[in-house]
Amino acid sequence: MEFLTGENSGCSGCGEMQSSCNFCGACCTGGGPVLRTQDERLIKMGKIQISDLYTMRKGERVFNKETLAMESIPSDQIKIKVQEETIRCTFLNEANRCRIYANRPFECRSYKCWDTKEIEEVYASDDPLTREDIVGGIEGLWDLVKDHQGRCDYETLSGLMERVEADQDKEAMASVCEMIAYDRSLRETLVASGRVKPEILDFLFGRALSTTIVMFNYRLEKGENGYQLVRVE
Ligand code: SF4
Ligand code: SF4
Repeated sequence: MEFLTGENSGCSGCGEMQSSCNFCGACCTGGGPVLRTQDERLIKMGKIQISDLYTMRKGERVFNKETLAMESIPSDQIKIKVQEETIRCTFLNEANRCRIYANRPFECRSYKCWDTKEIEEVYASDDPLTREDIVGGIEGLWDLVKDHQGRCDYETLSGLMERVEADQDKEAMASVCEMIAYDRSLRETLVASGRVKPEILDFLFGRALSTTIVMFNYRLEKGENGYQLVRVE
């Protein structure tokens, strides 16, 4: 969710000073919100489905507009998905209205473009909802999530990619390709066996590594001897 902060920021849609929401929907067009512990009830009540969510895992790199640099996130974030080919929240309809307004997440309820004190307090608090809060009690499934996290964590991946970037280290490159292959194979196997629906994969295991590897300025390409990493120039 693309919230502007700072005193009297004004509506992120029209830029006008105001004292209440005019439902322009502008704050819902820059990505979905991060879920907080207060939002767990919305999932339990079925107002938000797991298939509406994806996980940004600890260590994923995101662009920080203030520092103008890619930075790693310090902990997992459970986010509402966005609409295909856009960064509009999946719940924003064509008329720019929220389809779950009465049950919108805590961040959305805390955001007032004309007074950002409340949302800044939410950002400063350390209470994100976690995958464990949602599926930690599901034996078998949670073990899979933990196993995947252990084998595909971004800290390890970052270390390997530093070696690749520094001197095209072949051993590190092979380890990265193995990691991506495991991530892909786990997803395909679980879907093929019917154990997991494809639409909840990005919540359980985060976005596919074959996609997020681009955050390190590399992409995966199929060569004569299998997949290889190619730098994106
Ligand atoms: S809070 Fe969001 S929807 Fe409401 S006026 Fe501000 S930018 Fe528009
Ligand atoms: S859940 Fe609703 S209020 Fe929140 S970003 Fe999405 S559309 Fe906007």
